[in-house]
Amino acid sequence: MDFRELGEKCGVFGVYSNNLEASRLTYFGLYALQHRGQEATGICSSNHEFIRTYKGSGLVAHVYKDEDLDYLHGSIAIGHNRYSTSGGSLVDHHQPVIGKDNLLALAHNGNLPSTRKLENFLKNKGISPSHLNDSEMMAEAIKHYFVKGLTIEDSIRKAFPLFTGAFSILILTKTKLIAVRDAFGIRPLSLGKIDDSYVFASETCAFDTVGAEFIRDVKPGEMVVIDEHGITSTQIVEGVEKLDIFELVYFARPESKLLGKTVNEVRKEFGRKLAHQNKVRADIVIPIPDSSIPAALGFAEVSKIPFDFGLNKNRYIHRTFIRPSQNLRDRDVSLKLIPIKEVILGKKVIVIDDSIVRGTTTPKIVSILRKAGAKEVHLRISSPPVRFPDFYGIDMPEQKDLIAAHKSLAEICEFTGADTLEYLTYEDMIEATGLPENSFCTSCFTGEYPIDIEERGAEIKYDLSKF
Ligand code: AMP
Repeated sequence: MDFRELGEKCGVFGVYSNNLEASRLTYFGLYALQHRGQEATGICSSNHEFIRTYKGSGLVAHVYKDEDLDYLHGSIAIGHNRYSTSGGSLVDHHQPVIGKDNLLALAHNGNLPSTRKLENFLKNKGISPSHLNDSEMMAEAIKHYFVKGLTIEDSIRKAFPLFTGAFSILILTKTKLIAVRDAFGIRPLSLGKIDDSYVFASETCAFDTVGAEFIRDVKPGEMVVIDEHGITSTQIVEGVEKLDIFELVYFARPESKLLGKTVNEVRKEFGRKLAHQNKVRADIVIPIPDSSIPAALGFAEVSKIPFDFGLNKNRYIHRTFIRPSQNLRDRDVSLKLIPIKEVILGKKVIVIDDSIVRGTTTPKIVSILRKAGAKEVHLRISSPPVRFPDFYGIDMPEQKDLIAAHKSLAEICEFTGADTLEYLTYEDMIEATGLPENSFCTSCFTGEYPIDIEERGAEIKYDLSKF
């Protein structure tokens, strides 16, 4: 296993407070960000003298006990929920990253497709990168300058050009909380306020949970520093907004705001656009809960076909994608979605899903619906075909495992066993966001990678003539 593959899509949360228990607030923030990572979680806190750390494998609710949060006392804290398919059990690599020297802690959401520059830098400085993942290398590079006596701000500024990829990071020192975003702002990160305390979160849904007020997004290429003097901001490099559009398609929670848009509203609009394309007459529209509920509502609204819940989700089984093997993923799907037979029996069903990635989930769903007595099953996908892998921190398979990279629409339809299949068009997806195309990283749909993927480029095939 390559340790560099460990950095995946995650959730981060941080607090700088004068009067609140930072780790408890972080705990609730991480709770609200559980959907962004369920494999492991960790919190580092500072009382201005010591940095303390507590990490564990599993869900936020299972990992922390009351006494762990007592131990993490102090008024500054950062936390991380990790999501990764490889190496999930290696506690050493859980985040926040904190070295033995306890000088700084770093929580990273994102992924660096190329670590060549960073590795060479560390080797030149006599630090072996061989057992470090991308986040750990970032922390080491910053620390290299910090121990030399530079301020933490200057250390980050110096190390920043070594980071080739997507990163929304939170850094905690004994006295400061710092947020930094890559030049394209691929992964989200927002700033909020609760009384006179500042909070950062991967998604604004965490602000609602802790009672914080949203202030603004951290800008691409920006560093925001919070310490006893208040809040300061520096633009490390000029930024260009290119948020990963997959956040809107699938990852983010519906109540979160991304680029000023409520995710729920955008997803409804995806569904409305899909309905405008639709020519099939059906009896009901059903979502695959939870992520496609807004799109199914939008679809029903425009098509005037009644919305219903034909599949019920067992909420205590986590997202199927997270399981490491195909075998386990296959098993999970039928445990997770239970048909409501009375809704489906004898009906022509339009079923909405947000995306097809490998094509593992969809044939199972079609089969569940047929077994429950559906007369026809029409699949509608509220995003375009995923044909390119992600290198910026989303857990996606290699291109060879993306079904739309090697099958045509008709072949995918046949593979899933559906009567008909339609995807949202790329143009409609962009239009539905209400924002210009160039505000987004669309790499998994278009193969356009705004941040150089360097050595990983060799893995990509562009000659995909099936669609
Ligand atoms: P698949 O079975 O591989 O085609 O996965 C598609 C299903 O997983 C869809 O129903 C999505 O809701 C969900 N999904 C899409 N992308 C991801 C991801 N990166 N991680 C977890 N789930 C995902």
